[in-house]
Amino acid sequence: MSDCIFCKIAAGEIPATVAYEDDEIMAFEDINPKAPVHLLIIPKQHLDTLNDAGADHGQLLGRMTLMAAELAGEKGVAKGGYRVLMNCNPDGGQEVFHLHMHLIGGRRLGPMA
Ligand code: AMP
Ligand code: ZN
Repeated sequence: MSDCIFCKIAAGEIPATVAYEDDEIMAFEDINPKAPVHLLIIPKQHLDTLNDAGADHGQLLGRMTLMAAELAGEKGVAKGGYRVLMNCNPDGGQEVFHLHMHLIGGRRLGPMA
């Protein structure tokens, strides 16, 4: 998608602080972190929301989830704990319409709003 900011990050067209990248997925620091550790994990393939994922995307979503756990370990928050979440559509708080997973940690997170 030519006007999608996360597609542009995936293509290297706009900068990001990249924590992991391969052919399928990418992880980079959130530009407005909500906690000391706040990474976004995206598929390089554009999907607007989780609603657009199907059975064919199961392995991709699984890899993103396992990557969140691996990065939590690398960032030193695995034992203390962290939160992994995906916002979907406006009621879910989604602002960027390229499917992404948040990895948030490094402080005691409050209850879910
Ligand atoms: P969401 O509300 O789930 O759509 O989250 C979108 C996230 O993307 C927010 O936490 C933003 O701070 C983050 N974000 C927006 N633009 C950028 C960018 N250029 N680089 C890194 N993170 C970004
Ligand atoms: Zn996109």
